[in-house]
This record gives sequence, C-alpha cells and structure tokens, in this order.
Amino acid sequence: MERKVSEIGGYRFLGWGPAATGATLDWAMHPDMFGRCSRCNDLVSLDPHLDETCRCGRLTKDSGRFGSVDGDESIAIYTNRS
Ligand SMILES: [Zn+2]
Repeated sequence: MERKVSEIGGYRFLGWGPAATGATLDWAMHPDMFGRCSRCNDLVSLDPHLDETCRCGRLTKDSGRFGSVDGDESIAIYTNRS
C-alpha cells in the first residue's frame, strides 16, 4: 500500500496510525485530531462523541470505535492545533 503525505491547508501532519495520536495502545481520541482516508482523502475527526464516515465508507467512527478497512496504519493523522 502506498502511503503518501498530503499537505492540507490549516492542518499539520502528525504521523500514521494510533501512535501518531500519542497513544501506546489503540487510539487517543480527541476532537482536534483528524484521520485521513487513504482512498478518498476525507478527514474524519477523532471526536469520540461524533459518529462519522468518510465519503467512500472505508474510514469509520462509530460509538468511539475508529478504524479503516485498510488498517490503522493506512490512516494519516492530522491536527488543527497550531
Ligand atoms: Zn474514504
């Protein structure tokens, strides 16, 4: 799988997968972090209180469970913190 970092205006790239969120296991969920779908490039927030799905449906967040059918390490993590 190709992993390509895209510049996104207003966002800063943190890394790939759960480790980029500062977690040692699973995901650290926080509203100011976002996962980017490797397929459609939609950003889905890591707000644990919002259920969201990207445009192509591969990246999902449901009741705080976050992941991609392509695997956690396919998810590029961004933040809008300055
Ligand atoms: Zn997608």
